[in-house]
Amino acid sequence: MKTIKNKTSLFIIVGTLLTVGFLITNLISYYAAKNTMRDSIINTSLPLTRDNIYSEIQRDIMLPVYVASLMANDTFLKDWVINGEEDLSTIQKYLREIKFKYHLFTSFYVSEKTKHYYYYGGLLKTLSKNDSHDKWYDEFISQHVPYELVVDTNQAANNALTIFINHRVYDYEHNLLGVTGVGLDLERITNLLSAYRVKYNRDIYLVDQEGLIKAHSDKELVEAANIRLMPGIKDIAHSVLNISQHSEDFEYNRHREHILLTKRYIPELRWFLLVEQSQDKAIANIWYNFIKSTILGLLVTAIVVFIIMSSVNYYNRRLERLAITDELTGSYNRREFSRIYDKAVQWYKKNEEPFSVILVDIDNFKIINDAKGHAAGDSVIKAVTRICKNSIRGNDLIARWGGDEFIMLIYGDSNTASTIAERIQRYMSQDEELLTITSDIDDITLSIGISEYTVTDSEDSITIRADKALYSAKESGRNKVIITQSPQKY
Ligand code: GH3
Ligand code: MG
Repeated sequence: MKTIKNKTSLFIIVGTLLTVGFLITNLISYYAAKNTMRDSIINTSLPLTRDNIYSEIQRDIMLPVYVASLMANDTFLKDWVINGEEDLSTIQKYLREIKFKYHLFTSFYVSEKTKHYYYYGGLLKTLSKNDSHDKWYDEFISQHVPYELVVDTNQAANNALTIFINHRVYDYEHNLLGVTGVGLDLERITNLLSAYRVKYNRDIYLVDQEGLIKAHSDKELVEAANIRLMPGIKDIAHSVLNISQHSEDFEYNRHREHILLTKRYIPELRWFLLVEQSQDKAIANIWYNFIKSTILGLLVTAIVVFIIMSSVNYYNRRLERLAITDELTGSYNRREFSRIYDKAVQWYKKNEEPFSVILVDIDNFKIINDAKGHAAGDSVIKAVTRICKNSIRGNDLIARWGGDEFIMLIYGDSNTASTIAERIQRYMSQDEELLTITSDIDDITLSIGISEYTVTDSEDSITIRADKALYSAKESGRNKVIITQSPQKY
């Protein structure tokens, strides 16, 4: 019981050490991977996306600015205006040419003198001071800047981002002739925002200085949502909407999600470019891997503990067997006989049925050793063991008492033991292996002493009596079975 207890605590210690050690290593690598992932989002992926989108927007803005400036300096356009805006088809052809060549959304010219609004389809209208749609013209003229960028979302085209460039046109004496310009549909940018959301789970959006969303991968938010009112981000909206030349990073919690955010101001649009990503979604895979490797680790730990348990048990059983076994014969040894005897006494007390002891000694064994050698002597000892085992019954037991002596515990009275002893002697005389060994010497015989258990007996007393009987058998010429009188019978 003590061994099992110690063994159990060994398994518990090994199991706990492996599990705790494994969990600690796993947790450390989980946190390391999480931090690496977080750092790489903050320092690499978000800034990269931000700057990439920023350059894409800048590139797209450059085109209409360049085309508008080209138109404003075009001598054809100037001459046509100076010459009285006569042939409508020529200006229409010119504007259409510009629109299609540069894949623009629109192209136009407004004359200062006639207030005619020409576009690629011809004459659209004449500007009126009373029409609120036409206010932009006077506002731009009054600004005294060579050109302006007007960016807006086109509700007619699924909130597509549209950029208008208005450019002043002067005659050769620097008198104002009018305003020309183009409009560009920034659909490419909007598509890019959606692609990033699908591919990298990143939200990219543009907000104006008031926080109103002007472009978003989720089109429903455009012109509808304001970051000053959106959960989580509203708390940092003030800092986010602070105009600065440098990009800035933020973090906030939206519901239960931790969001990493980076911003950049686009001066041409006077808007902010925001790129954000959920940290929790990004590390979900790491968490999943952590769970997976923890389960795997626990499984491996269980297998290791099981293997250790099995081999410890196996070697334990082997040691236990070795401790009670005689090496040469494989039968029980003298030490184990004590246990066998104790069990027999308990059995006797319970059942009140007799048991006996048979003590066997090979006659003149020294002669075999001397004549045939020690190995042949060993073979004889093994053969005698075999014969004894074959002679006893299922419950009876045999142990090597030492040297050429054997002891048997027989569940039965001395007569039963005597029958078995005689059977042994008979088998001895018939055994083929023994006959081969002793072909040229005398047959091998056994002297046998028997004693039956009585309640006053101890292990010593019963074996001493059997030994005395054995001695008598030797004295009376060997190859004999002698039964002692039980002490009560004296
Ligand atoms: P007796 O009839 O009086 O018993 O004569 P004996 O020659 O058998 O004498 P005894 O029993 O005293 O001698 C036992 C001998 O058995 C002594 C020892 O050398 C030998 N012996 C003891 N153990 C072993 C063993 O494991 N193998 C072999 N081959 N011989 C053994
Ligand atoms: Mg002997």
